[in-house]
Amino acid sequence: MSSTVAPSTSAAAGGPSLPQERRLVTEVPGPRSRALLERKSRAVASGVGVAVPIAVVAAGGGVVVDADGNSLIDLGSGIAVTSVGNAHPGVVDAVQQQVQAFTHTCFTIAAYDGYVEVAEALNRLTPGDHEKRTALFNSGAEAVENAVKIARKHTGRQAIVVFDHAYHGRTNLTMALTAKNQPYKNGFGPFAPEVYRVPMSYPFRDGGLSGAEAAKRAISQIEKQVGAENTAAVLIEPIQGEGGFVVPAPGFLSALSEWATANGVVFIADEVQTGFARTGAMFASEHEGVVPDVVTTAKGMAGGMPLSAVTGRAEIMDSAHVGGLGGTYGGNPVACAAALAAIHAFEHDGLVERAAEIGDVLLGRLRTAQATDPRIGDVRGRGAMVAVELVDPATGEADAALTGRVVRYAYEHGVIALTAGTYGNVLRFLPPLAIGDDLLHDGLDVVLEGLATA
Ligand SMILES: *Cc1c(COP(=O)(O)O)cnc(C)c1O
Repeated sequence: MSSTVAPSTSAAAGGPSLPQERRLVTEVPGPRSRALLERKSRAVASGVGVAVPIAVVAAGGGVVVDADGNSLIDLGSGIAVTSVGNAHPGVVDAVQQQVQAFTHTCFTIAAYDGYVEVAEALNRLTPGDHEKRTALFNSGAEAVENAVKIARKHTGRQAIVVFDHAYHGRTNLTMALTAKNQPYKNGFGPFAPEVYRVPMSYPFRDGGLSGAEAAKRAISQIEKQVGAENTAAVLIEPIQGEGGFVVPAPGFLSALSEWATANGVVFIADEVQTGFARTGAMFASEHEGVVPDVVTTAKGMAGGMPLSAVTGRAEIMDSAHVGGLGGTYGGNPVACAAALAAIHAFEHDGLVERAAEIGDVLLGRLRTAQATDPRIGDVRGRGAMVAVELVDPATGEADAALTGRVVRYAYEHGVIALTAGTYGNVLRFLPPLAIGDDLLHDGLDVVLEGLATA
């Protein structure tokens, strides 16, 4: 089926040399974007939604360019993926070189350097200086699934403890691990067994329990309802992502991690969203001085190429028998080349510091706005992972409708902003760490205008 206004299919040059500006030349979505979305509705399963109705032709630095020539400010990074910047020149170079050398062997058939080098980098960069091992996969969900497999094999136990508001993916096991029914689980059961959910530390909504008190509540539930002796792993996002950027009260993570160690339970930090400089530390566990037994990573690691990892204590990781871990594409050589270039940028381009600076701008401006706008119930986050929770000032109830209107206003005015949260009332900011200050301020201006007029 052909359409009269076909989106441009010629490859446009992206990367940081794209003009770093917000520029609208049509309404958003414009005619070419609308034409693509029309084709999408007839070709793509409707369960695969699109939040921002544009057809992308190029991206780089802090902007995304659509087929109509609009340049939108990117405050989402494709959900914390293009942290080093979209089409980062180092990543593009590495990918091009690798593609010309070879595209695939299946690492479990024949080994290559890039896979081992990514494993070495993860073993070096993740928290703790104990001996580690890494296994590579394709998606965050796949990494989490494998972390669970490994923890069960190591402990000989089955129960996995997860938290309210948790998000760990969309496969069968990770749907079970994920808290939120709509849209992630509704009608897709039955779900995997031996998954137990306990309360999270959520300072804005748990009456201000201290980290120690919230940990005591969670641990008591584990001990009473599951039994430490049955528990293979405690699996937690150090800062929850899809759940609404919930930052647990200080001391919560360390108390859980200490309890896990004392009880022979594997403490797994799901750093798929928080990892790789995003929060102003290489890994978010570092903010609390927590050294997880196992860490899962993905999103930001490979500059947009699909790659994920499980990294953990050697004795835990090596408990799986030969052939027990793997997959056809896991640790694909092109994705590994991209990851090595991205990791080089994280380490050598000051991106950890840049994330912290971005956090100062975001938190500062959003807290100023909060002082005069009672609809901003909470401002929270770390580094370039910041959110506001919007509420009805009269009742304190979550205001998901307002949140949706702000996101719509934002893209109609040239800014990509995302929502999150169990109650759908969280506006989240995940700009690429390659964004400049001018663009960041301009993007925030638009979002705050949207809030003022919504
Ligand atoms: C996104 C995410 C996942 C799932 O990753 P996919 O690559 O989408 O499978 C798992 N855990 C966390 C914390 C995430 O943010």
